[in-house]
Amino acid sequence: IITSYNQDGDNINVVVRVRPLSKKEIKSVDNNVVQFPGNGQILITDVPGGSGGGLKTKLFSYNVVFEPAATQEDVLQYSGMKRLIEMAVEGFRCTCFCYGQTGSGKTHTLTGPPGLFGLKKTPYSDAHGLVFRSFMYLFQKLQEQPDKHFILKASYLEIYNEKVIDLLNPGSARKPLAVRWSKKARGFFVENLFTVDCEELDDLIAVLEEGLRNRSVGRHNMNEYSSRSHTILTVHITSEQPAENGVFISRTGKINFVDLAGSEMTKKTQSEGKTLEEANNINKSLMVLGYCISSLSDTKKKICHIPYRDSKLTKLLADSLAGNGVTLMIACISPAKSNLCETLNTLRYAARAKRI
Ligand code: ADP
Ligand code: MG
Repeated sequence: IITSYNQDGDNINVVVRVRPLSKKEIKSVDNNVVQFPGNGQILITDVPGGSGGGLKTKLFSYNVVFEPAATQEDVLQYSGMKRLIEMAVEGFRCTCFCYGQTGSGKTHTLTGPPGLFGLKKTPYSDAHGLVFRSFMYLFQKLQEQPDKHFILKASYLEIYNEKVIDLLNPGSARKPLAVRWSKKARGFFVENLFTVDCEELDDLIAVLEEGLRNRSVGRHNMNEYSSRSHTILTVHITSEQPAENGVFISRTGKINFVDLAGSEMTKKTQSEGKTLEEANNINKSLMVLGYCISSLSDTKKKICHIPYRDSKLTKLLADSLAGNGVTLMIACISPAKSNLCETLNTLRYAARAKRI
């Protein structure tokens, strides 16, 4: 259920997760068009454009492929996420993001099904997503280094139509926050963003819960909304280690968990005037993100100018994309024939991010 090509020491890992067919898709006899030849490959069948007007197949390769039966824990164990956490603890800036059309499983992969959190009534279950599992792994790693003192801080924001909203401070929905650049922050930062000190695992989980709750408050059509916004949950990890002469060696790394806007937004709304600006913003941020990532994997391209400044999303991810941290891209796809076109778009985007 999991196949991989290689888990090398690259600064970008691209993995694909294929969700199961939904009940609705099975009921409407929506055919499966995704096959798994092994070695991190995905074969798409029923692609139009074959000889004589028929259908053809297309083959793609990635670092790791998660088949529909793969579990949430499999994603933590085999995606390369654990290495990102280890590097963030060492002081590197790392990013994990989920890309794909609405309904492909981005939020499921990162946070799990809706309503999983809340009131801490839910025990840790199979359904908990990658963020929750990463927090647990992070604390496990910190406990292995008792000689160091660690300080954790977390923030959680949303970018909707190029406006930054603090998910830990719902009042900011009325007055979006500014993105600025400073030398001290080592890059772009969000002014007045609420940053929570997290001493324990429960504190980090509380940040996740609070952000998820605020994200859904006052939104009549949550699905519609989430398909148009990006969210970034960031954990800053500072380590202090006593050195000679009473000085401390201090390092700060971080991990961004990014749930991107639905990749289908870019074309669909083209005819609807009102949402055109929105669609353009999403289009632009995902496109620029794509440039940034592909330039990471191709050192020859590094000389070219990368337009980080063109979108809030890439401004806020610039330090971890351009630095020497590691980026993990999880491309999420549906196996259904009705989604074939968007699935091919996602697979192409993911393949461009890293040529194997
Ligand atoms: P997105 O965030 O990309 O719009 P969701 O994560 O909301 O998509 O997933 C859409 C639906 O599919 C949800 O009902 C979700 O629970 C379900 N789903 C997605 N991935 C899986 C999976 N790997 N296993 C089971 N159900 C899944
Ligand atoms: Mg979602």
